[in-house]
Amino acid sequence: MALIVHKYGGTSMGSPERIRNVAKRVAKWARAGHQMVVVPSAMSGETNRLLGLAKELSPASSTPALMRELDMIASTGEQVSVGLLAIALQAEGMDAVSYTGWQVPVATDSSYTKARIESIDDTRVRADLAAGKVVVITGFQGVDEANNITTLGRGGSDTSAVAIAAAMKADECLIYTDVDGVYTTDPRIVPEARRLHTISFEEMLEMASLGSKVLQIRSVEFAGKYRVPLRVLSSFTPWDIDINEEAKSGTLITFEEDEKMEQAVVSGIAFNRDEAKVTLLGVPDKPGIAFQILGPVADAKIDVDVIIQNVSQDGKTDFSFTVHRNDYQRAIELLEKTVGPAVQAAKVIGDTRICKVSIVGIGMRSHVGIASKMFRSLSEEGINIQMITTSEIKTSVVIDEKYMELAVRALHRAFDLDQELPV
Ligand code: ASP
Ligand code: MG
Repeated sequence: MALIVHKYGGTSMGSPERIRNVAKRVAKWARAGHQMVVVPSAMSGETNRLLGLAKELSPASSTPALMRELDMIASTGEQVSVGLLAIALQAEGMDAVSYTGWQVPVATDSSYTKARIESIDDTRVRADLAAGKVVVITGFQGVDEANNITTLGRGGSDTSAVAIAAAMKADECLIYTDVDGVYTTDPRIVPEARRLHTISFEEMLEMASLGSKVLQIRSVEFAGKYRVPLRVLSSFTPWDIDINEEAKSGTLITFEEDEKMEQAVVSGIAFNRDEAKVTLLGVPDKPGIAFQILGPVADAKIDVDVIIQNVSQDGKTDFSFTVHRNDYQRAIELLEKTVGPAVQAAKVIGDTRICKVSIVGIGMRSHVGIASKMFRSLSEEGINIQMITTSEIKTSVVIDEKYMELAVRALHRAFDLDQELPV
């Protein structure tokens, strides 16, 4: 007997018929002898609908008072889901009970709309499990110290499920979703993309942060920190598929690096279209300049990703960095009005039509020549590299957005990612 957490996304919870299927699947696991905790999202579209209602009443931007109410409203989507799922489980003959975040309680800080989980008291849930009940807990929400309802940010149910699994030391957390696992890259761009049977937690973290949106990134961080065995699998398989087959399906996020290292050097190609590039031309090449440029940018709460500065020939150099596209206008204004003049830059220029393409793999730690293979493959396609950044397990390049698909396909081929690995 194991303690298992299942998480179901909005699509799986999208109609009474689908909720019935979730209940049948969960009942199958419970009847196989497992203790079951289930964390569903709101029915698909529901969170958007609820937040849309709020917007109709107040277009005002985010004051703390407004954000508190947004969480009050948005959290109800999940409350409906848990009640419906508990009823569906009861209809399947299971003893089931549902809880909201504050009933568990799932304690968070007070950052409305993006709260962080601080602790989870599992006493009540454990007692229910011991009494043979299936426990259904809302995703996405918690409660702060002053008993205000909070939410964890869009897509936050993944994090709820992983956090509950961590708190309860669950044997595995299964994230049922509308894709059947983690792929070597987006199959909509590369039809030959393969589902990975396993991916290391570090690789998953890079893939998620680089724009592969299978899991909310915070849930991956949580899984890593608390070593929660995590599996992403399809919610579209028939509910009555053989449980042993189901338990092995999808992609397992592992901590066993060594095993993996024998296999692929590069595990996946990620890409991100959300960034824009800004450049200060002709800034003096002297100590303190990077700080004088990036200090005010950080003070303006603009996140900076890739940074590049070149050697100077005549005491002047160019300084470029990327920011999120949503911050592009603010960044340009800041550079033109204050930072540029302060560092005596000759000119400020920017480009929103860029993208970042990355190769990710823990095998890169122990292999040389991987980056150069990447650059060769891009050069063979005639793609110009504007910026490069590397970490232990990834190399990213910034290129013109119009070459993104070409680059992803070329790299997928160059690193043999369409070839099935020996198991
Ligand atoms: N219902 C929330 C959202 O739509 C949380 C989630 O689905 O994970 O963002
Ligand atoms: Mg989701």
